[in-house]
Amino acid sequence: PQKKRWATTAPRIPSTRMALQIFDMNYGTQFGSLWPSIRISLLSEQKYGALFNNFSEVEVVAQRLEGLNAMDFIWEAQKAVEDLDSMAEQVSGVPVSSPGTEAEPCEHQEQPIFSISPNIKCYTFPRGDISRFPPAKPDILGILGYYLLDAASILPVLALNVQPGDVVLDLCAAPGGKTLALLQTGCCRALAANDLSGSRIGRLLNVLHSYLPEQLFNTVTITRHDGRYWSKRSDIRYDRVLVDVPCTNDRHSLKEEENSIFKHGRKEERKMLPMLQLQLLVAGILAAKPGGEVVYSTCTLSQLQNEYVVERAVELLKIEHDITVQVEDLSYFRKLFQSTFSFYQDCRLGELVLPHLSANFGPIYFCKLQRLN
Ligand code: SAM
Repeated sequence: PQKKRWATTAPRIPSTRMALQIFDMNYGTQFGSLWPSIRISLLSEQKYGALFNNFSEVEVVAQRLEGLNAMDFIWEAQKAVEDLDSMAEQVSGVPVSSPGTEAEPCEHQEQPIFSISPNIKCYTFPRGDISRFPPAKPDILGILGYYLLDAASILPVLALNVQPGDVVLDLCAAPGGKTLALLQTGCCRALAANDLSGSRIGRLLNVLHSYLPEQLFNTVTITRHDGRYWSKRSDIRYDRVLVDVPCTNDRHSLKEEENSIFKHGRKEERKMLPMLQLQLLVAGILAAKPGGEVVYSTCTLSQLQNEYVVERAVELLKIEHDITVQVEDLSYFRKLFQSTFSFYQDCRLGELVLPHLSANFGPIYFCKLQRLN
């Protein structure tokens, strides 16, 4: 008798609907009364930022972006802090030094306690303004003036605090938005950009060719390895490591059927995500020098993929490798950028940008770790 093939004929719910059902179940519990507002924002149009390309015709591009009424949110945030400090100085007569509030030129300087990767500019429209950026135009050399991305995805790169002469690893780099931001600092002595996917590496190469002058390519090495086994392939130890892992990509999963991790046949893969993320983070920390800094980031709201992965990685490195890792406090970051983004107030470790209708960026989670030995 012929075998019945129910599985292939039964109607399946679309992946976007499946994602929403799972989010309602998990995030309803995780965020309680905040969930309805996050949910409607996730289902509404997302807001973009324009990562400014320092290697293009900067005056023309700045004029164009300012003409649209967009502002560099990083500069604005730093200026607001400086203004507050100078007011405090005037009142008290005592100089106040704000941690990391200047985009310094890329040369050796005394490090403040909190400092951010310098020279990165990202333009956004003001809170509540839902204008869109037009596509960037190539200049006479064919270089594009800005790269459109979720402005909150710049925060992990700023948190990485790249400093002059740093050797940097971007373990899951494609399609390259954050690699491009890392290179904007002008600080990377060498940058290794790795990804497992060949087609996505193709996109990364396109991005680099559209935004960077030829001479900068000498500093970038592109590889296609499984990041989980990075230390087996290379014994270079890095000053800075970015581990921007694959995740349930919450906003995308509610919009697109194509490539969805919520597809029927990808359930096992989805269940294994936290394990993959943990292995990638551990590999990233093992690739860092003692004293080196690592940022873990995702674009999901899921605690299981965010804080829990960080906690497990810290435990595992201690037990299996006798490596001590310190989770850094980023609350200063939250204060610095609170006028642009809506941050979750109750993150135990790291910071989480929540989608909000007046600032519809994210979700982006990022956590900074220092390898101590
Ligand atoms: N950092 C990128 C950016 O800003 O444009 C986005 C990275 S995306 C969130 C995650 C990437 O991890 C994907 O490009 C995926 O191909 C890659 N990936 C998945 N598994 C991997 C593995 N085992 N090793 C290295 N990369 C992996």
